[in-house]
Amino acid sequence: MRLYFAILGVVLSAFIIASVPRAQVAQYDLLIKNGRIVDGTGSPWFRGAVAIRGDVIATLAAKIDEPAARTIDADGQVVAPGFIDIHTHARRGISDVPTAPNYIRQGVTTLMEGPDGSSPLPLSTYLVQLERLAKSPNIGMFIGQGSVRSAIVGSGNRRATPEEIQKMVSLVEQGMKDGAFGMSTGLFYVPGTFTPTDEVVELARAASRFGGMHESHQRDDAAKVLDSVRETIAIGEQAHLPTQISHAKVVGQANWGRSADMLRLVDEARARGVDVTLDQYPYTASSTAVASALLPAWLLEGGREVTLGRLSDPASRERAKADSIAMIRDERGGGDPKNVQFASCGFDPSLAGRTLADLTRQRGLEPTIENAAETTLWIVEQGGCQGIFHAMSDDDLERILRHPATMIGSDGEVPRFGRDNPHPRSYGTFARVLGVYVREKKILGLEEAIRKMSGFPAARLGLTDRGLLRPGMKADIAIFDPERVRDMATYEKPHQYAEGFSHVVVNGQIVFEKGEMTSARPGRVLYGPGRLEPAAQK
Ligand SMILES: [Zn+2]
Repeated sequence: MRLYFAILGVVLSAFIIASVPRAQVAQYDLLIKNGRIVDGTGSPWFRGAVAIRGDVIATLAAKIDEPAARTIDADGQVVAPGFIDIHTHARRGISDVPTAPNYIRQGVTTLMEGPDGSSPLPLSTYLVQLERLAKSPNIGMFIGQGSVRSAIVGSGNRRATPEEIQKMVSLVEQGMKDGAFGMSTGLFYVPGTFTPTDEVVELARAASRFGGMHESHQRDDAAKVLDSVRETIAIGEQAHLPTQISHAKVVGQANWGRSADMLRLVDEARARGVDVTLDQYPYTASSTAVASALLPAWLLEGGREVTLGRLSDPASRERAKADSIAMIRDERGGGDPKNVQFASCGFDPSLAGRTLADLTRQRGLEPTIENAAETTLWIVEQGGCQGIFHAMSDDDLERILRHPATMIGSDGEVPRFGRDNPHPRSYGTFARVLGVYVREKKILGLEEAIRKMSGFPAARLGLTDRGLLRPGMKADIAIFDPERVRDMATYEKPHQYAEGFSHVVVNGQIVFEKGEMTSARPGRVLYGPGRLEPAAQK
């Protein structure tokens, strides 16, 4: 008994000695106090504090009094989970600008890449490069069906043989083992557009076996948009995996209003158990290559040399021009060459920001739709441009945004500041939703908008440790003033950072504060649910 008390005494005094100094040193590495906590679930905000230890949220409470090495007074601003951008083209630029300030400065802490059917192959090599890159945001990848088809079948318009399908399935499986979050398709683009639905389903089954999802740049966002929605749903239904309509939109004035039917199809599919969702950027202009947007797929089939060959043949040139006229009139051309703006043209950088009407006039032609189609063929011969296409309606945009199954995705990239004339979505998407569609137009409540930027995409991706403010979650956090948050980037002057954010934290480290990026590079590569460590792969 005496021995027992002696031991107890030693243990107790050791505890007291250890705990006295500990009470005076910091309990936490970072404390964010006096915030309006919006936790990412869609629940109403509450006044509270978040305490972080290492890269993890340690405590979330109305009040936290324990000391921290560093304290941020949020001063009544919103404290939200860092935003997760489920659809980006960040590999355009991330290795040149690994801080991605265009994203960080609007609260985005995680970027998903490999969209629209396009990813590096093999994914493992690119993931190693990303691991080595000292970067501010986290980044994860999809495996692209178009890239896989290109590697095995080429860019021609033909069915794949059973052997080729087997090879493509293996590549998708390998991508999932390497750490993809799922498979993306770009059935709008060459060569994705030559893929029959049943072939996509075969490949989607491979992603499904590893717990991945499917996301699609649909085959057609214009006259056949409803068929495309049916196809995206069918892929999810037949391959038994979550399926997502990327950058959901309705292009071309003749098709405006069809978002109502589009969302009805989504609701019906969800009611019968198909897990279909959407993502969207809050702009009525899209952006892609001028050739993809304004020229038919048959012209682009087989690659650049073959395309140039077709353009030198008068009969097929006439046919291409006729198709292009229809696409400018009824689809991405928005019915007027003024509605097509150049983001960048490799052969003539001075064209960035100008319109197809400007260039047609510069070539000595009246800017009619017919002459603009001729100019479009000429652009392809010169080497091509990236374009911005004003051809959507606000009504469709708002209807899609309101839908509970829609999340936010920028479809943007990491621009070099001041270079070219990129779509403003790269700088403004998340701030624009919060400033225009929450505060000004009141299309969404604040908590619902934040859910669409954090908890919802995290759940979609199977990111179980991000997207919510909860003890145990990774400390990715955005702090902003809901009265001041706004996008500044415009179509005319896109290189302008969003405003209203005071602090952004990635993996527990402050990457942005007081209007400046810090020197921290805490971003990590995130891996999907099917990942096998390289050593575990045969
Ligand atoms: Zn796309």
